[in-house]
Amino acid sequence: MSGSLYIIATPIGNLSDITLRAIETLKNVDLVLAEDTRHSKKLFDHYEIKSPLTAFHEHNENEKANGIISEINSGKSIALISDAGTPLISDPGYQLVSEAKKIGINVIPIPGPNAAIAALSSSGIASSSFSFFGFLPAKQASRLKLLKTKRSLDETIIFYESPKRILATIKDMMDVFGETRRVCLAKELTKSFETILNDNLIALIDYLESDPSHQKGEFVLIVSPDDKIDFDEAKSELEKILPILCDEMGASKASKLASKITGLDKKYCYKKAINL
Ligand code: SAM
Repeated sequence: MSGSLYIIATPIGNLSDITLRAIETLKNVDLVLAEDTRHSKKLFDHYEIKSPLTAFHEHNENEKANGIISEINSGKSIALISDAGTPLISDPGYQLVSEAKKIGINVIPIPGPNAAIAALSSSGIASSSFSFFGFLPAKQASRLKLLKTKRSLDETIIFYESPKRILATIKDMMDVFGETRRVCLAKELTKSFETILNDNLIALIDYLESDPSHQKGEFVLIVSPDDKIDFDEAKSELEKILPILCDEMGASKASKLASKITGLDKKYCYKKAINL
């Protein structure tokens, strides 16, 4: 095991959701980097893992990364875990892994729970093509701006949301995506109050407002693709009009216009325009 960095997924609620390999590796490494050592101690006690834990979180990641890399280079095996689920997925670790890879350190993933994938797999919403965006901005103006850029994507979109903002976010989604867009609200996955609802945005607002307890907990939101657009038709229209528009104006202006005409995403149209 010497000289390696292990990226280990841990439970997102139910302590039984951890692989045998994760437990075995956590028992055998020289050091475990954890977001909140007190939180991870509960997991360690449950599985009788005695390896030393040290804090590694968004506030000390940059400062600690070099020291950790030197320890791995000197032959130590180190594991990274987060409070829940898969490290680096809306969690710290990117800086460390990217530095480790640059100098050829062996980075070994030990896969397991992830809230976004658990929610998607049980959402009943198209899973063949999706984008994951993590947390939406806390400020409403920025949140609306970001949601607008996702309005006409031809794929499922996944967000994380906190109890503080779940109602405000669902209301903003209704403003941007329209009342009938289907969204899966997956709450408290793997825990006692697990709830997975696939409904339109009006019905989800009703659910959240009907009881204050419905807004408590951890949430994943899975937004279905825009079904008002026939994407095959819109894409073939784009193929016809984009070269004509690009002959008359720059790619940026042409793609904005093409997006308005076809209903397709502006960035998608721009990518097509610059690759003509
Ligand atoms: N790394 C984690 C993963 O692999 O899913 C995500 C960490 S992120 C800081 C925490 C967010 O993930 C929560 O605010 C919530 O949106 C989502 N999440 C985590 N656990 C969850 C659960 N049991 N049920 C629903 N959402 C959860």
